[in-house]
Amino acid sequence: MGIATGSVALRRSALYAQTGVRLTPLNDELALITGAGANLLVHRADDDGLLLVDSGVARENGGIHFVLKNYLAAPVVYLINTHWHPRHTGGNPNFGNGGAEIIAHVNCLKRLSASQHLTFPDQFVEPLPPEGLPKRTFVDSGELRHGSDIVQYKHLPPAHTDGDIVVRFANANVYHCGDLFYNRIYPYIDYGSGGSAEGMIASAARILNEADARTTLIPGHGTVGVKAELQAFHDMLADVTEKIDTMLRQGNPLDRIQAARPTARYEEAWGNGRLSGGEFVRLLYSGKIRQASAKEPLKAL
Ligand SMILES: [Zn+2]
Repeated sequence: MGIATGSVALRRSALYAQTGVRLTPLNDELALITGAGANLLVHRADDDGLLLVDSGVARENGGIHFVLKNYLAAPVVYLINTHWHPRHTGGNPNFGNGGAEIIAHVNCLKRLSASQHLTFPDQFVEPLPPEGLPKRTFVDSGELRHGSDIVQYKHLPPAHTDGDIVVRFANANVYHCGDLFYNRIYPYIDYGSGGSAEGMIASAARILNEADARTTLIPGHGTVGVKAELQAFHDMLADVTEKIDTMLRQGNPLDRIQAARPTARYEEAWGNGRLSGGEFVRLLYSGKIRQASAKEPLKAL
């Protein structure tokens, strides 16, 4: 099949070495694109072109287009955004200009249409030009047939942001979880976009309810996972959050909570991503302070 052949060629390509953008087949129709700022998933239908889940960070546009053009040789007809973050939507204008119909949750469109502020890293993000904005939006869920598969996209209550969706390839039993799943990397939670640790834990539980032992789970960041790995993510997040909650209720400040190392047992497996254990604790703590200060003065903690 074309995807498998392309993968072999790709490993020999010079451009792959230059950009690090890499296409890896998952089966005859689905392939993973890595090295593009986030994990992208592409579905090929012989007569219907390509369906892409997330468009990567803008600076990797060239590499993404290279692997799609040279190894799949079909236009992107649909682009589904899992949420608004720039690592997942940076290529939107290029694909929109190329004729792709962009699909996303209404809150994703809302945030892509106006300036946003991210706290990690601290940056202001400009709105996307009109051609990069989703044209098909939804509130709860939707689906479309693409080639031999049915692609279902569903909004989950606020978790990583307030516009997260999960994209399910029903026949292939493959989910793209966006940033509701980080595999063996401490997750980022975008409190400024309506996210919360409790929402992340609840979303992971909902995906776990639907998945089975043969489901392939694509995280937004980290390696391709299975149900047991999403369970480990859920359990780690629930455990660390509970430890921080307990110390906060006892009146401990951030430095004392960090010194108690609530992430100690997870450091070796989870501490090799963008966030160290201490930074992850600071992130969760900042979310708790934000939630508390929204309800009552900070000193009440
Ligand atoms: Zn994200």
